[in-house]
Amino acid sequence: MQATVEAIKITKEHLNSETASKYLMEKWSDWHWQIKNTIRKVETVEKILGIKFSDEKRNEINKTIEKFPMAITPYYLSLIDSDDYENDPVFKQCFPSIKELTISPFDMADPLSEDKDSPVPGITHRYPDRVLFHISNICSMYCRFCTRKRKVGDVDSIPSKDMILEGIEYIKNTPSVRDVLLSGGDPFLLPDEQIDWILEQITQIPHVEVVRIGTRTPVVLPYRITDNLARILKKYDNLWINTHYNHPRELTKTSIHALKKLANAGIPLGNQSVLLRDINDCPRIMKKLVQKLVANRVRPYYLYQCDLSEGLEHFRTNVGKGIEIMESLRGHTSGFAVPTYVIDAPGGGGKIPIMPNYLISWSTDKVVLRNYEGVITTYKMPENYEHTVCNLDCEGCNLQLKLDNDEADLKPIGISRLLCDYDDDITLVPEDLERDQRNKDIEELVV
Ligand SMILES: *Cc1c(COP(=O)(O)O)cnc(C)c1O
Repeated sequence: MQATVEAIKITKEHLNSETASKYLMEKWSDWHWQIKNTIRKVETVEKILGIKFSDEKRNEINKTIEKFPMAITPYYLSLIDSDDYENDPVFKQCFPSIKELTISPFDMADPLSEDKDSPVPGITHRYPDRVLFHISNICSMYCRFCTRKRKVGDVDSIPSKDMILEGIEYIKNTPSVRDVLLSGGDPFLLPDEQIDWILEQITQIPHVEVVRIGTRTPVVLPYRITDNLARILKKYDNLWINTHYNHPRELTKTSIHALKKLANAGIPLGNQSVLLRDINDCPRIMKKLVQKLVANRVRPYYLYQCDLSEGLEHFRTNVGKGIEIMESLRGHTSGFAVPTYVIDAPGGGGKIPIMPNYLISWSTDKVVLRNYEGVITTYKMPENYEHTVCNLDCEGCNLQLKLDNDEADLKPIGISRLLCDYDDDITLVPEDLERDQRNKDIEELVV
């Protein structure tokens, strides 16, 4: 209780920072203090924001918290505009709503089948050359729209050291993995030494070329980006970091300072946003967000359509809204500020890019395109570009590759297999196609 009283006092003083004492400001900017004083009770939010919910509303919120716990760092809470909190994009991302208890018919606990595509606990191996590695199940702030909502606040799923070792062992024994994505939870909630140890273990594996960390700490706990952490990260020269800003308001002075430390340590920074109803489903907000990101050396990477996780329907938008936003970005602002809009396929199909149609039509010698202004143009194809048969046997080809054959590249899959001349396959057919089954039955009858 004592901690809560202090949290309220310091948070309130911070909101009115002219009166905050140096002592209190030092505590405020210590990330351990922020974690220790994470706000988990409705009453604390009411006291800090100076608002009062009706008993009915408070009961609703508490009922929601029972199923999906609440956690808000004092820093992130301090960004809320208490005069208009109900429409506040920060409030909506961190404060529970009874709507989370509504499960719509298409919702799933694990829409991306991360648990299914998991060769060892903590690892999701979906794509040929890269894995997702959950090294932490702790977060400083519980995003209400979390795709891994099923695990939020679930003590049982905190990865143990043995589990992490098992994951590292899997990567060591799987030479096709050249890219490791450390995620969670938030990897930056682990102690510095542990982050250092994991990075050291993984970067030592000869076939691992790239390591990425996905973290929301620059947004919700920017004080976590300490000089010491930046010094540790700087040692790893194949490390990328992806962060998660959803609204331009989240790029505060403090947050920008954290980004600067990471960028100055030489780490390429990306951002993954989620398209969220009544928070950022607006072309102007998105444009502002991506422009502010690149101004701070963060490259917008993905814009996600909100997943079909249980209790997220009130956050989901139509796909058309996402396309409309993409339409408002491409051409209208710097190309490198434009993220790829993706739907992470339910059932584990991976990310599928969605964008407006720019290719309007084509003939044997021309394509017809349109640009962002609506100008329709043509591109004339060369007359003498001949089809070269490619069966992926590079021996007989004049193009210089001069690389050791990478086995994964030698066996095409999916649409790229249909496009090349690897074998005689001309279709991709569902395994349980009823028509095939019928034909088989007929064959059996004939025999
Ligand atoms: C998103 C994701 C990746 C990384 O995909 P990229 O498109 O390379 O960023 C890898 N594995 C899983 C399971 C993912 O969900």
